[in-house]
Amino acid sequence: MNVNQSAPPVPPFGQPQPVYQGYHQSSYGGQPGSTAPTTPYGAYNGPVPGYQQTSPPGVSRAPPSSEAPPASTAQAPCGQAAYGQFGQGDVQNGPSSTVQMQRFPGSQPFGSVPLTPVVSQPTVLQPYGPPPTSAQVTAQLAGMQISGAVAPALPPVGLGYGSPASLASASGSFPNPGLYGSYPQGQAPPLSQAQGHLGAQPPQRSAPPQASTFTSPASGGPRMPSMTGPFLPGQGFGGPSLSQPNHVSSPPPQALPPGTQMTGPPGPPPPMHSSQQPGYQLQQNGSFGPARGPQPNYGSPYPGAPTFGSQPGPPQPLPPKRLDPDAIPSPIQVIEDDRNNRGSEPFVTGVRGQVPPLVTTNFLVKDQGNASPRYIRCTSYNIPCTSDMAKQAQVPLAAVIKPLARLPPEEVSPYVVDHGESGPLRCNRCKAYMCPFMQFIEGGRRFQCCFCSCINDVPPQYFQHLDHTGKRVDAYDRPELSLGSYEFLATVDYCKNNKFPSPPAFIFMIDVSYNAIRSGLVRLLCEELKSLLDFLPREGGTEESAIRVGFVTYNKVLHFYNVKSSLAQPQMMVVSDVADMFVPLLDGFLVNVSESRAVITSLLDQIPEMFADTRETETVFAPVIQAGMEALKAAECAGKLFLFHTSLPIAEAPGKLKNRDDRKLINTDKEKTLFQPQTGAYQTLAKECVAQGCCVDLFLFPNQYVDVATLSVVPQLTGGSVYKYACFQVENDQERFLSDLRRDVQKVVGFDAVMRVRTSTGIRAVDFFGAFYMSNTTDVELAGLDGDKTVTVEFKHDDRLNEESGALLQCALLYTSCAGQRRLRIHNLALNCCTQLADLYRNCETDTLINYMAKFAYRGVLNSPVKTVRDTLITQCAQILACYRKNCASPSSAGQLILPECMKLLPVYLNCVLKSDVLQPGAEVTTDDRAYVRQLVTSMDVAETNVFFYPRLLPLTKSPIESATEPPAVRASEERLSNGDIYLLENGLNLFLWVGASVQQGVVQSLFNVSSFSQITSGLSVLPVLDNPLSKKVRGLIDSLRAQRSRYMKLIVVKQEDKLEMLFKHFLVEDKSLSGGASYVDFLCHMHKEIRQLLS
Ligand SMILES: [Zn+2]
Repeated sequence: MNVNQSAPPVPPFGQPQPVYQGYHQSSYGGQPGSTAPTTPYGAYNGPVPGYQQTSPPGVSRAPPSSEAPPASTAQAPCGQAAYGQFGQGDVQNGPSSTVQMQRFPGSQPFGSVPLTPVVSQPTVLQPYGPPPTSAQVTAQLAGMQISGAVAPALPPVGLGYGSPASLASASGSFPNPGLYGSYPQGQAPPLSQAQGHLGAQPPQRSAPPQASTFTSPASGGPRMPSMTGPFLPGQGFGGPSLSQPNHVSSPPPQALPPGTQMTGPPGPPPPMHSSQQPGYQLQQNGSFGPARGPQPNYGSPYPGAPTFGSQPGPPQPLPPKRLDPDAIPSPIQVIEDDRNNRGSEPFVTGVRGQVPPLVTTNFLVKDQGNASPRYIRCTSYNIPCTSDMAKQAQVPLAAVIKPLARLPPEEVSPYVVDHGESGPLRCNRCKAYMCPFMQFIEGGRRFQCCFCSCINDVPPQYFQHLDHTGKRVDAYDRPELSLGSYEFLATVDYCKNNKFPSPPAFIFMIDVSYNAIRSGLVRLLCEELKSLLDFLPREGGTEESAIRVGFVTYNKVLHFYNVKSSLAQPQMMVVSDVADMFVPLLDGFLVNVSESRAVITSLLDQIPEMFADTRETETVFAPVIQAGMEALKAAECAGKLFLFHTSLPIAEAPGKLKNRDDRKLINTDKEKTLFQPQTGAYQTLAKECVAQGCCVDLFLFPNQYVDVATLSVVPQLTGGSVYKYACFQVENDQERFLSDLRRDVQKVVGFDAVMRVRTSTGIRAVDFFGAFYMSNTTDVELAGLDGDKTVTVEFKHDDRLNEESGALLQCALLYTSCAGQRRLRIHNLALNCCTQLADLYRNCETDTLINYMAKFAYRGVLNSPVKTVRDTLITQCAQILACYRKNCASPSSAGQLILPECMKLLPVYLNCVLKSDVLQPGAEVTTDDRAYVRQLVTSMDVAETNVFFYPRLLPLTKSPIESATEPPAVRASEERLSNGDIYLLENGLNLFLWVGASVQQGVVQSLFNVSSFSQITSGLSVLPVLDNPLSKKVRGLIDSLRAQRSRYMKLIVVKQEDKLEMLFKHFLVEDKSLSGGASYVDFLCHMHKEIRQLLS
């Protein structure tokens, strides 16, 4: 394909450009925005001294924040509408037959070696903490063997795998503990040789270390005698054709063609090497060879290290020893390295297929043609050209998309482009939107679609000349021709029933049954709403929100309130026929806050009094949602219901539920029923809500089982959120609840949305995960979508991809803004395609993989036994790593576990998913908790799943008090806790302050204002406000952690050796868990075993 899908032209964004002259809003004008501009256009163009002068064709619309919706008074009738976006020619991609799939001349079939060694991506140095332990050194040795064996500039001899040089350096590898466990103590090779040579080595370092490394094990006799690791069953060497001899005897890498390695030592090895080899071989064959026996099933409680030591196989069983945790890949180190290496420079999106910095790294993004990673993150940025390759690697191809992601203040929100009455320019065949990858031809009169190759005419009003490179001369004047993300104003064709929408409405629906009143919830909530209503979402620039509000209270019956501004007092209307819900009033139910303020305030004052003496304990639920949805329907608008609910809805009504909780089902084939809704009524209701653009946010305050799995169906399918406050008490929980409520009410939401992901020919979006509804296989329907919600999309091949043109994604979200404006937000992302598996493995992102895998597994529990789901994950992970080992890593001892650099944390993170509450619950985890977490994870972005599955553990007194930065985290393991220190642990939902028993008295005094450890109140949730540096620092840190998360984390103070410590230890995810989850070390050994089994 002759389209410019490669790196989009990189405009000199940092330089003054006379472009965007058409953005004539004063707020955009004249911003010298080359550094951290605060206004959109300044940032985009750099210093632009005057782009408000004239208007470029077609780009004359106001930015999102500064203009009222056009003709927004037109009401959109309810019901299913034909969306303009998808109504016409619902073709995802053009017929593939029309696409010319040319082989890139330089590309080679998989299996050959490129003529020039691929330069490794900058790999992260991996100092596994000083000083290196023996295990660590072994790991380094292993890594060096790989690096050395395939050094840069190797001649392209027919090795069966690609680009070995770069791969080698990209391998984090570490030893098979059992391999070395049988050597006698006291014969360690000099450790110094391994100093500084790290598991992950940059290519240029591979050669020199190699030499010294090889000398070590050979000349020193048995290698790594002090390596202490458990034996693994089946951990023998793969056979006589080991790479070990090759490594040992390999000459300088420049002289060693890879082919030689495959067949044995090239030339006579030095005597002392060969003299060592027989013994080495003997060890393999004698001790380990036969050990590849039946594998214990992981599903049974994972035995842990000691069990390995007693596996049959070694003739002389050794005392069990543990693999040194310092020798295995550390999440903390990887995070730290990425921060150091990539945190200082902005991530510029102009180059196709770039892997962004990790989500744990703070970085700025400059949009130069591809969507920011804040909007889209992929499991891999270099995807296999063929489905065969993809199947071989088993690496899921998925994108985690957050279409309305909030950006840091330094970055620019997508510009809004208005093409007037003609609407956004699209491909006639596949309906893709104009984007930087479209290729203009024939002097600019036509353009070829980068997704389906269709040739389209350029409408006269959009015509522009091309420069000598074939690029439109106005390319940088137009966001849709130069940026990865932008918005189009939608025309009436994109609105339901061809009418522009009304502004949305919020309806607050408050449970006033006995429990809600008694806990103080109703009073607290009503008091809060009085002020919160002043902070409804607005589009920037407008003085007040366009959103109207309404109020309902309920127990077994519903009470509607007329809060019309002309009334002196609110009026209540009771609807007791919950079986056939209707809205008893139209006029006066949904009102403007400022107009009706007096009446609303009066109502909120009266509600707690009206129900103060209620004895009603029963509630309904489905009729409440039904009522809210009907009210929106009657008002012909989209909107959001805020439900505050306390109990299982057992009152006689549609959607009535019974208590079906049964913990005995755990670990049985019926466990899945605990996650399934107990009635289909809520799916039906949700479908109606989606059709109306009615999003439901549910705040639950249960004292016992309320069946979250069923109650969360409607929020889940309408793009809403669920919050749960078990055993709510005002004094303990109000801060958390109010904080969540404020954030939820104020956040910007897109309503009545439809999302479509288009792809270039060759791949196709096939599966979707998140909080939404789908009535067909392509359109993700979201009654509401906020800036926290993600949709994870999986892709599969339907044709061959092309290395030259790469693969393109375009996510289009049609939605109604908070002010009622209909818009299209477009995100584009270009990925590389590869014919070498090594390129896939070099460009993966493990955090995103885990996000996908967790969502995949959490959906799987709806239909399969939890054990099956866990086994599936393990198998897939093993296949991924085995494929790498087989095809990409250099030949080496089968006893070594070799992980791709980008995936070296896959085992530890996967283990965290496997032992999470949903997949392996402890005794203290309730059915509702599991359903709740399952639902939460479904919409999480990559940063959220990362910290949720691997919590952050921060020591508080190690770093200087005056240090303004966050203290460096430590690994989530009890071993890392010092009883003389204090730690914060957070996972995005929970926050603990752990106090060691030997912490200094001065620290105790400074933080808790008591004189000794024993006087600290266990379970404390608020630290006293004290005027000393430590107290200020810790409280400041807690505030900062909370600010980073989308939900308020309530603090729990835990004392060492206290009962509550059990709760805390649950989050030390590298350790063995009480529910039977494996420790990281044990799981890694298990993973290794699985990989070996696949390879054998
Ligand atoms: Zn097309």
